Amino acid sequence: MKELLGTIIAAHGRHYVADVDGRILQCVTRGKKTNVAVGDIVHLKQTSEDQAVIEKIDERKSLLYRSDQYKSKLLAANVTRLFIVVATEPSFADDLVSRALVAAESAGVKAHLILNKTDVEELLPRARERAAVYASLGYPVHEVSAKREPQRTVEILAPLLAGESSIFIGQSGMGKSSLVNLLVPDADIAVREISAALDTGKHTTTFTRLYKLPGGGAIIDSPGFQEFGLYHLTEGMLERAFVEFAPYLGGCKFYNCRHLAEPQCAVLQAVEDGKIAPMRHALYAQLVHESSQTLY
Ligand code: GDP
Ligand code: ZN
Repeated sequence: MKELLGTIIAAHGRHYVADVDGRILQCVTRGKKTNVAVGDIVHLKQTSEDQAVIEKIDERKSLLYRSDQYKSKLLAANVTRLFIVVATEPSFADDLVSRALVAAESAGVKAHLILNKTDVEELLPRARERAAVYASLGYPVHEVSAKREPQRTVEILAPLLAGESSIFIGQSGMGKSSLVNLLVPDADIAVREISAALDTGKHTTTFTRLYKLPGGGAIIDSPGFQEFGLYHLTEGMLERAFVEFAPYLGGCKFYNCRHLAEPQCAVLQAVEDGKIAPMRHALYAQLVHESSQTLY
């Protein structure tokens, strides 16, 4: 049969679902390969009415990894924007936000924050203050209320999604599903179709999936909060992923300074001077530690 070109719209173990011009095909890889990610553009050989084999993966514009027991596994390919959903309540975890930012920076993906539930007014000032730390680093923060102001929320977010391949991530309870449902009109129908193709009706929320947007572009929704796989990052990559370190990197006494406890380290000095947030430097040190552990 002739070769088809498709986009991987869901992955579950070694089972994949591809969209070929709006048609849904159940796909498998050859052999035991699991090197396919949601968002991949794939060349397929159709084997039956609704099944195909993945023959080739096109070169990727970007690749994000998820964490799997001290290993990095593929999460999503060809993403151009990463949206981190936080909210006034429940409270969000700064280290998870920064881990997502590191994943985005090292993949060359532009990251944005969405501050949802602005209608919870008594908690808004504190949430705003916490989000401002990220805005000061250059990550745009968009304030929305999926529940109270759905129309306005769509007006704010839709222009950011047009023509982009956007992944949404967030800790549970932040309102990520509410936002995706606002932005993707037929999300529930799409999920049912994908579940049927995956043959895992009961696992409807446990797989990463891609929704094509009517106006061009796509949204990738990842269940729960994806812990990003950062184990493949070298210390040099980690250092660059903390964008606020950049002005100080040339100023350390030792050319191979790791910015952990070295004397006359310009990065540590900047932390001391209040120019780099201590929580960001602490996470950097933690990630250096984690990346060195994976050598053993
Ligand atoms: P998810 O776990 O991030 O997917 O979050 P959900 O979309 O399931 O939302 C979690 C809870 O927050 C639900 O009870 C929603 O109704 C509620 N919620 C979502 N958006 C808003 C909002 O803008 N304001 C308020 N007050 N509640 C919201
Ligand atoms: Zn240093």
